[in-house]
Amino acid sequence: MRNTETTAKRLAILGSTGSIGTQALDVVRDQPGHFQVELLTAGSNADLLVQQAREFRPNAVVIADRARHAEVRDALFPLGVKVYAGLEAIEQAVCMEDIDLVLTAMVGYAGLRPTLAAIDAGKPIALANKETLVVAGELVTRRAREKGVNIYPVDSEHSAIFQCMAGEWDNPIEKITLTASGGPFRGWSRQQLSGVTRAQALKHPNWSMGAKITIDSASLMNKGLEAIEAKWLFGLKPEQVEIIVHAQSIIHSLVQFRDGSMKAQMGLPDMKLPILYALAFPHRLATDWPRFDFARYPSLTFEPPDLEAFPNLVLALEAMRRGGNAPCVLNAANEVAVEAFLQERIGFLEMSDLIADRLAKANFVPSPDLEALQATDSETRQAAHESLKSPAWRS
Ligand code: NDP
Ligand code: MG
Repeated sequence: MRNTETTAKRLAILGSTGSIGTQALDVVRDQPGHFQVELLTAGSNADLLVQQAREFRPNAVVIADRARHAEVRDALFPLGVKVYAGLEAIEQAVCMEDIDLVLTAMVGYAGLRPTLAAIDAGKPIALANKETLVVAGELVTRRAREKGVNIYPVDSEHSAIFQCMAGEWDNPIEKITLTASGGPFRGWSRQQLSGVTRAQALKHPNWSMGAKITIDSASLMNKGLEAIEAKWLFGLKPEQVEIIVHAQSIIHSLVQFRDGSMKAQMGLPDMKLPILYALAFPHRLATDWPRFDFARYPSLTFEPPDLEAFPNLVLALEAMRRGGNAPCVLNAANEVAVEAFLQERIGFLEMSDLIADRLAKANFVPSPDLEALQATDSETRQAAHESLKSPAWRS
């Protein structure tokens, strides 16, 4: 599988064992000669990491969970693949000279430091890990500008906007419209939502994704995180970001220019498309994946999001407007809330109560540096875990 052609783009895939990571490897497998895998990293899934390394023969792999290091090292020793362990090792490995592009597909706040390390090393980023821009969008985009590093969006909505912007970079954006599928609970009332189970929330109608983003999609927090992500990627003011529910997930997002004209990007809901676009940019590579068929989608529908039933979206938009460390508080509280919901410790709507409580009580820092963001993240997590032990925050 290892490709020795010098034209192949050499990839680091952070989070290769996840939903985006495995689909990125499907893309690599589908496009022989175009990509070569240099680095794979995982959290703790040693078995899948070893299996991927056997197939794609990277130069190195990193397993964040140190307890699984020996197992991965012993399995890959005969192949001559270098094996490292721990989060710091991910930060070091992304700087390897032989890497042309870093796909950040780790989940959550853990993606921030490796992404910054890659930018500091001058590596272009294909960014799936939206939490990085939610937490530290100002810092990350400033560093990328300083280093002349491009960030190519992988998130389907942001890829859509990026694709609509081709040939338009000198034309100011009037507004963007992010489309949302509405998730499995579109049209549900607050009362119905209060009884939602973990299994119901993990069933997304249009996309198959990792557990955290699936819950975020069900609660519409994902769309709020995406609004913040878009603000930083495209240099927008909060009021330039609009959200509309489009249940079919065919129009992936839209841009409106100052003459009133709108451009949209369409396609079947398949993450392999935005992944391929980010990896191959500026080229479009040929695929034989299924094509859109108008007969199967006789109507495309649009409706405003229900802000009363889905308070997470309101909280995220409010954090975006406040700026400073507010999105960092939002993200950390949400990560704790989603984990607690997945462990069936709190109900679906209680996630919003926990996040609102943290946003109301956290110290506001208007212009946080990395250290301040790290402090905000750990203080928020600690306080949220404390809150989970007492019912005071419940509305
Ligand atoms: P998954 O949970 O499926 O995968 C996460 C990956 O990150 C896995 O490889 C996991 O390793 C690794 N990982 C988890 N925690 C750590 C850690 N502490 N240190 C190092 N590695 C870690 O997530 P997704 O692929 O669904 O999402 C990845 C990112 O992409 C998220 O930010 C998400 O919001 C974004 N995204 C995802 C989309 C999707 O369709 N899935 C769409 C758009 C954006 P292990 O397997 O060993 O646990
Ligand atoms: Mg998305």
